[in-house]
Amino acid sequence: MCPFIENQTSANPALLHSAEALQRTILATVPDAMIVIDEAGSILLFSEAAHRMFGYEDAEVVGQNVKILMPNPDRDRHDDYMHHYMETGEAHIIGIGRVTAGRRRDGSTFPIDLAIGEARGENGRLFTGFIRDLTEIRRAERRLNDLQAELSHISRVSAMGSLASALAHELNQPLTAIASYAEGARTLLGDEGTPPQADIDMVREALAEASAEALRAGQIVRRLREFISRGESERRVEPLRRLVTEAAALALTGTGQTGIGQPGINLAIRLDPSVDLVLCDRIQIQQVLLNLIRNAVEAMQRSPRQQLEIRSRPARGGSGSPRCVEVVVSDSGPGLAPEVTEVLFQPFNTSKEKGMGLGLSISRTIVEAHGGRIWAEPSDFGGTAFHFTLELAEDPQDG
Ligand code: ADP
Repeated sequence: MCPFIENQTSANPALLHSAEALQRTILATVPDAMIVIDEAGSILLFSEAAHRMFGYEDAEVVGQNVKILMPNPDRDRHDDYMHHYMETGEAHIIGIGRVTAGRRRDGSTFPIDLAIGEARGENGRLFTGFIRDLTEIRRAERRLNDLQAELSHISRVSAMGSLASALAHELNQPLTAIASYAEGARTLLGDEGTPPQADIDMVREALAEASAEALRAGQIVRRLREFISRGESERRVEPLRRLVTEAAALALTGTGQTGIGQPGINLAIRLDPSVDLVLCDRIQIQQVLLNLIRNAVEAMQRSPRQQLEIRSRPARGGSGSPRCVEVVVSDSGPGLAPEVTEVLFQPFNTSKEKGMGLGLSISRTIVEAHGGRIWAEPSDFGGTAFHFTLELAEDPQDG
């Protein structure tokens, strides 16, 4: 009988009976493992889920010190932790919760999320621990990592697209020059005052080769362009909230910033629900968000205060109609380096040792292909704010 319940119900046998039934139901069905201990650390109650999680039968653990469920160093220190708390009232875990390790009957350990509550009964204090096995969550994190790897593959594919468009841009000017130079030379050869035959042959041959090269290069450029413009893009109506929350989770996985209550980046997502549905290629727009969030995280690495905010608000489209949403990713980093500002969205501009300088140029290609704009401004937190717009999906009510 749980002494906690006993205290409340001993005066009324009917109540006592239903309280016992209630306690049995709770212990059998509470999804997290639930363990109640007394001031001395002795286990009073052990739920069904705790039995499954730790592999102990009730009779083996009730009355035992709870430290048998912990690996070292906690196992040897747990009595001291409890004495310290009883004497000073200084809580390190009670009411706070933390991620730690549990120890099964067979000695194996596993990650757990432990939350402890305290109750004061007539016979002293009772502590109730709720324990969640994180093995599944760790597995989910690994799945998230796989997804991240998939996204970074997509990033490389779009990096190729960006590379190709940069190449096309770079090649076009000299090609035009070669072509007109070749044409000019031909015309010159046709003028009066015939040069020696041998020279003429050489010039003609060189010019023929030059223009053939120019044409071949032009074909490569054209093919690349066709390839880029064909780039698979699947547009659907997507809720911005989903795109943002998933991208933020992905961007922060692996940076050690996903744990609740961990020190580090303070992430705030403030989205205006009145501008939620956008018509876009989800993977591409998440790629943009990932690039911006990762850049923000990297920029804040040495900042004492790490504030990351993603917000949205209604914005005006090109025609002046309010059918756009503006998304802003703000950080509290050092802001843009002056030499980067001018060439921010151009490919291969980076201030990072291992940077490729492609993230922002890819982001611009994607945003512009969606009919939006992207730009940077100083942020409210003293760092940088990247803004981009997206066209909203037609509201079905608007017809
Ligand atoms: P990369 O991250 O590989 O350098 P990007 O195109 O994503 O390529 O970024 C180009 C440059 O823009 C970065 O090297 C950095 O100098 C600057 N930059 C981007 N985002 C930020 C930011 N949030 N704060 C400060 N600088 C930034």
